[in-house]
Amino acid sequence: MKKCLVLLLSLITFVSHSQDRCGFAHGEKNKQKANPNYIKQKAEFEYNIREILKNDNSANSRVGETVFKIPVVVHVIHNNASNFIGGANNTNISDEQIKSQIKVLNEDYRRKSGTNGFNTNTVGADMEIEFELATLDPNGKATTGITRTFVNQASWDFLSQGPEFANKIKWNFEKYLNIWVAKSNGNTIGYAEFPYDSKLIGLAATPQDIIDQKIFDGVIVDYRNFGTCCGTLSSTYNLGRTLTHEIGHWLGLLHINNDETCGDDYCNDTPKVENLNNVTNCNPKTTKCDGTSKAAMIENYMDYSPDKCMNIFTLDQKKRARAAMEASPTRKRLLVNVTPIPETETLTISVQPNPATTNPYVKVQFKGDKNISISVFDLRGVVLYEENYDSQKSNIFQIKSDKLYQGEYIVKVSTGTEISSQRLFIFR
Ligand SMILES: [Zn+2]
Repeated sequence: MKKCLVLLLSLITFVSHSQDRCGFAHGEKNKQKANPNYIKQKAEFEYNIREILKNDNSANSRVGETVFKIPVVVHVIHNNASNFIGGANNTNISDEQIKSQIKVLNEDYRRKSGTNGFNTNTVGADMEIEFELATLDPNGKATTGITRTFVNQASWDFLSQGPEFANKIKWNFEKYLNIWVAKSNGNTIGYAEFPYDSKLIGLAATPQDIIDQKIFDGVIVDYRNFGTCCGTLSSTYNLGRTLTHEIGHWLGLLHINNDETCGDDYCNDTPKVENLNNVTNCNPKTTKCDGTSKAAMIENYMDYSPDKCMNIFTLDQKKRARAAMEASPTRKRLLVNVTPIPETETLTISVQPNPATTNPYVKVQFKGDKNISISVFDLRGVVLYEENYDSQKSNIFQIKSDKLYQGEYIVKVSTGTEISSQRLFIFR
């Protein structure tokens, strides 16, 4: 069984669900078939991440801010007609099992001392991301952050049926990380949605998928690979790391070989490897991707190693994940919902850094939710850049200035009822 398989929904029709260790090239081809814009969208997403990382010291970017606290809802999809909770081989897993999983996430993402998630590696990172079971549901009522839904189906193909999960029960993707726990039919034990530009409603969703409301965002994990206690756990993936790994994808992280021989995961501090560590032991492994033999990082959460071997996200993975949250509209809206930027009575904007050498940010504050338009003019009044955002709260937006020459410009932000402008100086 695969430790994980992250594929986008439209792949389902084309890709065999067998263990396709080297299916990256095939998968890419299929993604392109399903969505002609795939390559372009992916390239744009990667470009945006790189641009954000150039600015990662900017005080005005959320990338550099401290701990993100993400509300989580766990949807248990079970086939236990009696609704009995917990016990062996019960898909209706206990609250205790779910809480044991959340605990692991916070140990791993905080590199917490004294836990399995700690490491002494010089490139080991505290991701500064925390997960907490939601305390308020979408209607503002108190909740445990756990839902339970009976469905008269013994097991599921997570890849092709992910959208069905999402349509059984889902909470606003922009306010919660949705996690579904169910029984896999054996093809994969985990599945996650990447944070690509979700204005597209799933990178490779076909037009029919969108019409059919087959929209998915979040993570699915098999109930035997969830948490560290209380139910029936698998022998290899029994320490909660399947979800740590899957949320890594949800945050934009790739497998450490990007699913090809010695592939690039865009993180320089994760050694390239020929293949993923799909074994049941923690034996050291060497890689010769750089010509000479050196140790592979089998302990990386984005490898396929058994749970007991894993204990590290790297500093570059941290930067990438946090930048991906900034680059993805849905993740960005989740962040602002989670850690709101203070509102102001009237529209207030602040462009920083200013002067700017790369893409600056504009902090936009106002009252409530509004559609906003951000534009950049030259001094003759010619619009050189414009971006529109629907139903936004106060937030920080990036201005893509790479096509602007050195000089003086006007940044204008409009909410439809209010307009505010500020001068921007670009130095190259
Ligand atoms: Zn994976």
